[in-house]
Amino acid sequence: MPFSLHGIGVSRGYAIGRTYLLQRNQPEITEYTIPDNIIEDEVRRFLNGLDLARRQLQDIRGRVSVTAPGDIGAFIDTHLLMLQDASFTEAPIHLIRSRRCNAEWALKIQQDLLVRMFDEMDDPYLRTRKDDVDHVVRRVQRILVTDDPAYFNDPDYAEMAASRLEGRVIVADDLTPADTILMQHQGVLAFVTEYGGPLSHTAILARSLGIPAIVGARNIRNYLGHDEPVIVDGRQGIILVGLDERILRYYREKQREERRQQRELNKLKGKPAVTRDGITISLHANIELPEDALAVRDVAADGVGLYRTEFLFMNRASFPDEEEHLASYLHVIKTLEGIPVTIRTADLGADKQLDSGRSGQVCTNPAMGLRAIRMCLKDLGMFRPQLRAILRASAHGSVRMMIPMLASIQEVFQVLKLVQETKQELRERGLAFDEHMPVGGMIEVPAAAVCAEQFAHYMDFLSIGTNDLIQYTLAIDRVDDEVNYLFDPLHPAVLTLIHHTIRAGQKAGIPVSLCGEMAGDSRYTRLLLGLGLTEFSMHPTGLLEIKKVIQGSVVSELNAIVGRLLHTTDAEKYAEILKDIAQN
Ligand code: PEP
Ligand code: MG
Repeated sequence: MPFSLHGIGVSRGYAIGRTYLLQRNQPEITEYTIPDNIIEDEVRRFLNGLDLARRQLQDIRGRVSVTAPGDIGAFIDTHLLMLQDASFTEAPIHLIRSRRCNAEWALKIQQDLLVRMFDEMDDPYLRTRKDDVDHVVRRVQRILVTDDPAYFNDPDYAEMAASRLEGRVIVADDLTPADTILMQHQGVLAFVTEYGGPLSHTAILARSLGIPAIVGARNIRNYLGHDEPVIVDGRQGIILVGLDERILRYYREKQREERRQQRELNKLKGKPAVTRDGITISLHANIELPEDALAVRDVAADGVGLYRTEFLFMNRASFPDEEEHLASYLHVIKTLEGIPVTIRTADLGADKQLDSGRSGQVCTNPAMGLRAIRMCLKDLGMFRPQLRAILRASAHGSVRMMIPMLASIQEVFQVLKLVQETKQELRERGLAFDEHMPVGGMIEVPAAAVCAEQFAHYMDFLSIGTNDLIQYTLAIDRVDDEVNYLFDPLHPAVLTLIHHTIRAGQKAGIPVSLCGEMAGDSRYTRLLLGLGLTEFSMHPTGLLEIKKVIQGSVVSELNAIVGRLLHTTDAEKYAEILKDIAQN
């Protein structure tokens, strides 16, 4: 009898395969007292355990293939960094000595403390990072309870290497980044986990690997057996069990249709995005890590419209220096061979904390606090090396610099003055840069959108950050699950601000792009065309689908319908016109 189980769909696609239940045998951790005379032996045992965990992770790090998504290696690096942190290297030793308890128990106490700290954080992304603490602690505990001192191989790896995972749907309580590395070449079809949300490792990695995934499917292992045929619908978050021939036929057809659509989309690579009435639209890509440039090349984007450099600053204790910045930018520029790259200066603060927030300094309202350009202007020691590196990178390719979260024109003046000073510094050092490197600003604070004409007057280009513009306009924390339902890109206030910004750019004769999630969501493409947008920037995976919609659109007609939409005060009519736009 067929039935369905539900979780949160976090990576699209359909998988039809047999389950592989990943049962990690978690050791039972109990407390026992260590006699005074062997306390130091216990400390040594603990340190040996840490050392072995480090070597295991380094071994796994070495297996990350060069073509693997950048996230994978970065997650392992985070775990390695944690193993060097005093909260792992010192605090448990202190507990062993002061409580005279065994090493596994000391780790457990420390784990509880760290998890509580993460739990209290406002930011869901950081709350999710308590998973890292669990993963690292469990690894060391498993080593400590294993008697064999020569034991080196990672137990998970041993189990997985011995199993045949090809064509399997992995079902687990949770997956560690190390798990995903070990599985990357094994032809796994999909991931289903009991824990995690859209920002969990499993979700991020599945999206990077392009396989379907469902997270948060609580207690699913109570209902699923090992080696059981299932269907995973990664968009809807549905796992179908007890399959019959009819269901299988239906989903096989859906899979075929999906592959057919992808093949059709692949044919659009390298073709221009021109509307039916002859308007050429530029399609750019958003990237986060230098390695992402490969995906940009793969879809033949017109450029990088948003390079989020803050990821260079995360998971570490100190700021990157000028040379480190430069090396990352040059990697992207060289990979992309001449297409323009828009490097955004650090957007730290809010959900992107230096050292992943482990310092525990999270202010009560980070999205409205010392974030992005505010933080850069306050900490010039951090900002200047990045400015120098972006300017130096401009000597090697078509580079634009973009400033996030501008709210007042004074900030623009401050930035432009700093750019002039930096140029002078580089001239004195005899270093090359592009004298005419464009400097643009993100319009993502409503104040900036309202005053877009001012910004357009002083800047070389604008880019609308709808993720933040919606959050600030509608007063909805973009990472708070409780108010997610109010996050509405179609709200008249949001559309009015987008329209106003595009018009301001047109009047000033400067390019305006849109680089928030809206740009990569095909439900909004026609609407944005109708609002006058001619430059989109999005995750590379969505680019060909957006191109297809553009090629089927007639901008002049959309302009007229959107004009009516913006003048409507009747809510019903507003909804009707939106429907009309979607179907046009
Ligand atoms: C945005 O706010 O829309 C944006 C693109 O920037 P981020 O998501 O990095 O804040
Ligand atoms: Mg933003």
